[in-house]
Amino acid sequence: MNCPSCKEHMESSRCPSCGYDLSREKWISIKKVYPPDDLVLVSLLRSHGIPVKIQSLEVSQIPVGIGPLAEVNIYVPEIIAAQALALIEDLPDAE
Ligand SMILES: [Zn+2]
Repeated sequence: MNCPSCKEHMESSRCPSCGYDLSREKWISIKKVYPPDDLVLVSLLRSHGIPVKIQSLEVSQIPVGIGPLAEVNIYVPEIIAAQALALIEDLPDAE
């Protein structure tokens, strides 16, 4: 992935170039999707070097048989959220 701050390639959560620390960044949810759309979005964002975290939530309020069992929150660092949103909005299949 790339550093959201200076765009240099980074292997760990801390950028060797500018000192940006991913683990101290605020992560925000940019999208809620249902599997397997989460895999599509994650691979898209990662292909652009954007760090991504996902969190699955049980959706207990949806009656069984109507909706998928779990929705997935897509998280990216706040600093890069606007760019990530622009990318996924380009997806024709995204809501
Ligand atoms: Zn950096």
